[in-house]
Amino acid sequence: MSKLTETIEAVAQMILREKNYLSDLDAKIGDGDHGINMARGFEAVLEALDALEHPENPKAVLHAVGTAILENVGGAAGPLYGAGFLCASEVCAEDERLTIDSAERLLGAAIAGIEKRGHARRGDKTMLDVLIPIHECFTAPYADGSTLYECLADANQAANEGVEYTKTIAARKGRASYLGERSIGCEDPGAVSSMLMFRAAYQFLNR
Ligand code: ADP
Ligand code: MG
Repeated sequence: MSKLTETIEAVAQMILREKNYLSDLDAKIGDGDHGINMARGFEAVLEALDALEHPENPKAVLHAVGTAILENVGGAAGPLYGAGFLCASEVCAEDERLTIDSAERLLGAAIAGIEKRGHARRGDKTMLDVLIPIHECFTAPYADGSTLYECLADANQAANEGVEYTKTIAARKGRASYLGERSIGCEDPGAVSSMLMFRAAYQFLNR
């Protein structure tokens, strides 16, 4: 076990706990499977973490997590989250430590990977409306003069605000886009899963 594997385990437990909630949100503006998809992925992640040969190597850990999600989750979100973890792994050093700088670099790479695969942008009512504001909290000028733990707290708050923002806009990507304006008023399920994943990591790191 390493601090990273323990953090990812906390994220997995959060997703498994909130499985029904995520599917209920998806039932309102999609097909009701987001929680099932995410839970399947994170069950595979837990197995992959158990089988890791080098849990102390964050690059290998992120690669194993991305692969487990990519290979086990259908739907739109699975391949996007899988790509996100794999792209973060690509820019991660084998002895990387959690700092403002590494958080900025890894989150930035994950977002670029998700954007490349899904062709969505901020404001399309997707997970990106949470992930991009989280990332911003680790970039200049927002992060200037802040400690890592202040940035983490700001990002946790930004994630909550990102979810609230998705309620106010119409979906332009994914299944919810079929509803267009009728998706206004509902939070985006992928935005909520991103927020919950970050919250789990934040709570674990602040325990
Ligand atoms: P599906 O829509 O195939 O049933 P899920 O229900 O698991 O897959 O995931 C839906 C979530 O995926 C949405 O709430 C949204 O956040 C995210 N999503 C869908 N399409 C995209 C995209 N092109 N880019 C980023 N996120 C997307
Ligand atoms: Mg769905």
